[in-house]
Amino acid sequence: MAPEGAITPDRGGVTRERKPTTEDGRRALPCAHVSESVQFPGVVGHDRIVAMLSRAIERQRLHHGLVFAGPRGIGKATLARGLACALTCDVAPARGCGRCDGCRRMLLDRHTDLRKLEGEGKSRMIKVEPAREVSIRAQHAPFEARAHVIVVDPADRMNPRAAAALLKSIEEPREGVYWVLIATNLHDVLDTILSRCMVIPLERLGAEQTGEIVAAQLELRGLELDDERRKLAISLADGCPGVALELLGDTGLEATRDLLAATLRALEIGPGAVFSGDRSPLWSAWKTAVLATPDPDEQAEQADEEEEVVVVKGKKPGKKKVKKTAAKSESKETPARQRATAGRLAELWLVHLRERLLGREGLRGLPSPTLGTDRLTRQMQAIQQFQTNLARNPNVRLSFEQLLSSLSA
Ligand SMILES: [Zn+2]
Repeated sequence: MAPEGAITPDRGGVTRERKPTTEDGRRALPCAHVSESVQFPGVVGHDRIVAMLSRAIERQRLHHGLVFAGPRGIGKATLARGLACALTCDVAPARGCGRCDGCRRMLLDRHTDLRKLEGEGKSRMIKVEPAREVSIRAQHAPFEARAHVIVVDPADRMNPRAAAALLKSIEEPREGVYWVLIATNLHDVLDTILSRCMVIPLERLGAEQTGEIVAAQLELRGLELDDERRKLAISLADGCPGVALELLGDTGLEATRDLLAATLRALEIGPGAVFSGDRSPLWSAWKTAVLATPDPDEQAEQADEEEEVVVVKGKKPGKKKVKKTAAKSESKETPARQRATAGRLAELWLVHLRERLLGREGLRGLPSPTLGTDRLTRQMQAIQQFQTNLARNPNVRLSFEQLLSSLSA
């Protein structure tokens, strides 16, 4: 994808020679290079994709139908908005300045040439009627800008009739109209739609970039959170800033970390500590964690309003906020809640082991006895198996006990 030409802006022939290292070394190059790279307003990371899109706009060759695919919380919607700026900004064409009136309205979802077709209700399913409306609108030229951008989110949860309604418009695009389809799971997007679009897979961000986005969001919201909690959320989110932000608002996170600490300590002591009464440190930590974990149904509702990551300096978008989840039925250790706790515990545990496998200390404050690579790998496999069992076994606590029994043997 010829990165050199794209990344280096025209600077009166000061272009550096084509060094063979450029292509591979591009990502590893430090700040000097980054500062020269193209970046859409509000977007952090995804450098290669941003450069490619920007170049395509410059050459007036941007595909009219794009699918941004990637895990939840990775910044697909943010990228779509940044792209809309780049397509319409007069101050910085093909990039977006982020400051002009048009860009600001784009970033705050208030531009007349940004149309969103979003899912409704718990299932976030896109319905026929709004799809038809958008489809009709797509037959017209942009209102005020050079381009009209329609974002379909989530494109992988479309009612088949809604998909059919969109198909024709995507197939026969009106000039200046661009479709951006957002999908977590490409398999659930209609083949006939995919075949008319260009699929752009987004990669997970590095921990540093995730941290940068999280920090910017917290600042924007005037929130301060302790370092430890932030690091924990970032390492768990595995390159998806939206997920990290969601985790920061999760009341069960710390309690689950304490549960993991108690679990590791119990394993160190042996089966006696594992199979002890409800008042033992392990099982009281279990209970505390389960009760601190938000009800999964409430969580599903939150996921519906998936956190989007917009950075508009100096402006506070009122509707964005870190979710504060309060456990409603505080005293009930429901199976759903147990399952959520166990799932989160497994994730944390895997992060801890992965860190240790990389020769690092692991999550802070957790016991980390010296274990060989073999032992660590075996533990990881056992935990992954536990994750699979969780989905099948209705008795969560029993699954957990089985895991502990296999590890303490
Ligand atoms: Zn602008």
